[in-house]
Amino acid sequence: MAETKIEWADYTFNAWIGCTKVSPACNNCYAWADFDVRKGRAAWGPNGTRSVTADSNWKNPVKWNRWAEIDRKVWEFVKENPHVSTWEVSTDITSGRLSALSLDRLAARGLVLPLTKGPRTVWIAKGSEWIRPRVFVNSLSDWAEDWRGDMVDHKGRTMHIDPNTGKWYADDQMKIGKSLVTMTDVRQRLFALIDATPNLDWLLLTKRPENILDMWPPFGDATDGMMMEIMGANQFYRRNVWIGTTVENQEQARKRLPELEKCRHLSPVLFVSAEPLLGEVDLRPWLNWISWVIAGGESGPGARPSHPEWFRSLRGQCEAAGVPFFFKQFGEWLPVPIEKDNEFSGGHAFECPVDGRTAAVIRERSKKAFQSGKWRRMRAGDQTKKYYVLDERTVAVKVGKKKAGRLLDGVQHDGVPSCM
Ligand code: SF4
Repeated sequence: MAETKIEWADYTFNAWIGCTKVSPACNNCYAWADFDVRKGRAAWGPNGTRSVTADSNWKNPVKWNRWAEIDRKVWEFVKENPHVSTWEVSTDITSGRLSALSLDRLAARGLVLPLTKGPRTVWIAKGSEWIRPRVFVNSLSDWAEDWRGDMVDHKGRTMHIDPNTGKWYADDQMKIGKSLVTMTDVRQRLFALIDATPNLDWLLLTKRPENILDMWPPFGDATDGMMMEIMGANQFYRRNVWIGTTVENQEQARKRLPELEKCRHLSPVLFVSAEPLLGEVDLRPWLNWISWVIAGGESGPGARPSHPEWFRSLRGQCEAAGVPFFFKQFGEWLPVPIEKDNEFSGGHAFECPVDGRTAAVIRERSKKAFQSGKWRRMRAGDQTKKYYVLDERTVAVKVGKKKAGRLLDGVQHDGVPSCM
């Protein structure tokens, strides 16, 4: 059961909400538009607020971790027994309902396939190795933000720690001897949760990779011997964490990737999220240690179009270096080619996904309300509400994320590193 709309993860977990914009990728931050401007849950910026999510939300990963353990057993059982029915899975593995729910979750993740319908559904397993569920951390904030203010709870009340019990309280519940909860405290709680859920892979994506080393805790006292064995002897290496940074243009690649490279001893997977991709990026100097590249265009209000050549270039670089490439989406704008077509005025046209075949000419901007004969062929940079001309051969049409889809040159790219 996927609990996120993000194509490259199975779940999203937010430890807190609120952030500060740091680079062009943040210009149209959807979290800011939704949780600051629209709902007022947290104020963005260095003098704003950071709102810790409710305790009930912190219980979810524990549940997902438990599901992952059961689901893996069910998947292995179906793999060993192809064409097994729902009923047989239910009776052979665990108590009935639980296994049937496992099958639903596995089907939603594409790991098993029903071959028939109805109560006697027959299943086969897909893939040769188990795919661990991936949790995307802090889609509504940045887990590595260096913010010094007081944290508030989900109702906006300042949070305090009882030094005797270590429990957290809102300001109107606490009496004496209280100290304020900081972002560092919440981050430690997040890492304790990560260490307690070894069946999940946690994806820590940040636009502040320069802070990672300072913010990365060793395993806490709560980590048991078994966990240490799973994680290896390195006190800082977490097998169940993937660390990534956003690279929206070449400037950010030069700035952020050397910082991410310093984290190679912390995690099995270091990845790049080139989304929203705002320019051509050459990742080749770093692809010898990058394990995964995700690329995508921008969606939502104010979205900026990406040139398809930027995606093709990244795909080609990844193919040459043997790095898995995941194309997430075009976003709000779908690029289409402008072709020679003498049937149309101007002799050039494009296949507009909303209007059909359309002449690639545009009315010249003029101070006069109307001027006849002032049409010309589209040029790079021309822009209306619906079209954005990327170059003389490519126009981006605003069709919305769903219609724009995620096929690059007709192919879906779902590359992901394999981590058992
Ligand atoms: S880092 Fe992420 S959450 Fe923070 S402002 Fe930028 S886009 Fe928004």
